[in-house]
Amino acid sequence: MITGTTRLLGVIGAPIEHSLSPIIQNAALRAANLDYVYTAFPVSRCALDSAVRGLRDAGVVGFNVTIPFKTEVMRLMDELSEDARRIQAVNTVVVQSDGRLRGCNTDAIGFCAGLEERGIDLHGKKAVLIGAGGAARAALWGLLRSGISSVDIGVRTIEKGQMLCCDFTMDADVHAYRFDDSAFSTALSCADIVVQTTPMGMTPDIEKMPPVDIAAIHPAAVLYDLIYTPDNTCFLREAAARGHETINGEAMLVAQGAEAFFLWTGVRPDTSLMKRVLREELVRRG
Ligand code: NAP
Repeated sequence: MITGTTRLLGVIGAPIEHSLSPIIQNAALRAANLDYVYTAFPVSRCALDSAVRGLRDAGVVGFNVTIPFKTEVMRLMDELSEDARRIQAVNTVVVQSDGRLRGCNTDAIGFCAGLEERGIDLHGKKAVLIGAGGAARAALWGLLRSGISSVDIGVRTIEKGQMLCCDFTMDADVHAYRFDDSAFSTALSCADIVVQTTPMGMTPDIEKMPPVDIAAIHPAAVLYDLIYTPDNTCFLREAAARGHETINGEAMLVAQGAEAFFLWTGVRPDTSLMKRVLREELVRRG
């Protein structure tokens, strides 16, 4: 029951009405018997500053941030976590007891959870990343945190790939190549893991594939696609047919939400329940 003592959490974005977070987070809050409610706040681009200050001033405990505000909201934070600084985006805001806003990013932790669930250890291994957008930045930081030794990034816009590399060259051997560069094909043939971070294959464009020859990938490589709608992209289907171990984006989505839940409440939620609720909702939405 929502009462005068119920504490408020939420997500800001535009558009926000299709967000899966209220369904997943409220199920986890109920299961943990916590007196919180999580809702979606539609915020227009021109109202970001006043919305963030308004949420803080109205006593909201914290909120998620999604498209298109993950980068822009950084300038409104009083402090940033290391992950938010490295990924250059905030997806979780914690309103601290003194009203200061702490900007965090739980996407790299979510990304790594997808690997940990399968017992995949990346220490000293080689990775290939497909794409260089926002999700790629979180995945790259996750790979580096997991002890990867080198990351080769395949891109269509080389400048974006090079910019991403620049921010991480101190951490590991990171290079960007155009998809049609022969050095990229060589990287695919040596990779222990290939991470697909473009929207190619995401609903409604489910027949699309990233411009990568799956036959060129090392046969023992794990293929990780960050897409979760559909749960089995063309890319993952073809990879599985060739005998690769595959991972989709569902574990990452749940784990980034679970980490945000922990940052706000101090309680670790039931992630298997969150996963079940997510799956049921995705099936319901078709
Ligand atoms: P983004 O910032 O727009 O980046 C998209 C990247 O894909 C860019 O590098 C872009 O290249 C590349 N790309 C797009 N269309 C392409 C094409 N036709 N050919 C080659 N490259 C193409 O998007 P994002 O926020 O990173 O999201 C990407 C995907 O990750 C989405 O499907 C999203 O649902 C998923 N995701 C999943 C989770 C999760 O929790 N599982 C979290 C975040 C994101 P250019 O730079 O050349 O445009």
